[in-house]
Amino acid sequence: MEPICTNRFYGSKVQKRSASRSKICWVKTHRVMPSHILGPTQYWQEFHKQADALAMAAERSTKTDTLCTFVYQRPSDGSRRFVVAHPEVYWWYYKIKPQEERCSYEVIPKDSPCWLYLDLEYPIELNPLCNGSRMTKTLIDIIRAYLLNHYHLLCDRSNFLILDSTTSKKFSRHVIFTMKDMAFKDNSHIGKFIKTIYNDILFYLKSDTLSHGILNYFNKADIEEMLVKTQHGEKLFIDNGVYTKNRHFRIYLSTKWGKQSYLTVSTDCMHNAVNKCREKELEIFLDSLISYFPNKQNLILLEFFNRSDVKAKLYSNVPIRSIRENDDQSSAYPEIDRYIRNLIDPGKIRIAKYFDKTKTLRYEIYGNRYCENIGRYHKSNNVYWIVDLNTKKVYQKCHDEDCSEFLSTPKNLPEEILFKLDKEGDIFMTGATIDEDITKKI
Ligand SMILES: [Zn+2]
Repeated sequence: MEPICTNRFYGSKVQKRSASRSKICWVKTHRVMPSHILGPTQYWQEFHKQADALAMAAERSTKTDTLCTFVYQRPSDGSRRFVVAHPEVYWWYYKIKPQEERCSYEVIPKDSPCWLYLDLEYPIELNPLCNGSRMTKTLIDIIRAYLLNHYHLLCDRSNFLILDSTTSKKFSRHVIFTMKDMAFKDNSHIGKFIKTIYNDILFYLKSDTLSHGILNYFNKADIEEMLVKTQHGEKLFIDNGVYTKNRHFRIYLSTKWGKQSYLTVSTDCMHNAVNKCREKELEIFLDSLISYFPNKQNLILLEFFNRSDVKAKLYSNVPIRSIRENDDQSSAYPEIDRYIRNLIDPGKIRIAKYFDKTKTLRYEIYGNRYCENIGRYHKSNNVYWIVDLNTKKVYQKCHDEDCSEFLSTPKNLPEEILFKLDKEGDIFMTGATIDEDITKKI
């Protein structure tokens, strides 16, 4: 078992302070580290780019070991680093960090199953009469009614984990709906589901005569209480903007950088653990993760397109668009992909990208750093390959600074591929999809 370098996570400051202690810690680590027979994997890797981390998490996850992508802000300057690790392993290092350095988020990968989550907030000064606990309860009960109505899903308040980081200025909570083997297909479906409820409530409150099949069962004063004053006018205390792709969601016991308000379990939380384990705190942590499912095969996935179009499907029957099948590891030119794969063996394609303007394909490679410029393997920098569809030539380039201007001797694309390109050239071109680089969206 390869030890994890804690220095990577803590930075040199902590390392220096506890240099003599770290050895003792490590021995202890070996005894208590999560070590059931089948895992979890001890894998731990840091990345500067989110896209690299998400690709690696997908690549290294297996049926029994689900890796997650976390992002933490470094105490010194708030800069972000991405970590791919099994949640239990992440927790192991996270929980012993000094409180003020716990500043971590889960990355909720796009197109991945996730639990229904809510971000609730309102400024306390502008709403002195609001009772946040009562408002949370009202909202949970309304969501339960919607889940029952749309999915015939019967749940109670013990299915809802409530985390709180309220300060004297701001009410702030995360609510997570947890249910064994049950998830939404991805967070865009949750977004549509929550926005539907949100609009129903607003519409119901604005109209005196409107009756609503679900909301009629609630005390109208309780519903009205959820409408809060903010600096930008009145709105519900639900943040609708948290259902975007690759969303960062603050994790249990973390604070926003530079603040001192940590997410802890709220006093009115009645949650029953789904991920059972011996350590109570770990249970809470695992249950609070939005996109962690140790056994995806049994998941039932809920879809919500609109109020009259909802579905529930078994995970194993749904073709999930994984990162692998997405834009990343194959292009619209399967023949060329195959040719490149042979060329770089035993390396693999990390990202394949098509550039419409220049009519070129770019293949980022991992697992094979052989660079023609230096005639050997680079120690840390990866190489990439370009396919020029104008000239029908292929050449290698390199991420090493010393090789920045380098182009390898161009190879001709093999005849059988040229034949296909000529024959189906136009179809090929229109079939090529260009996806925005994920990293640009951060
Ligand atoms: Zn090079």
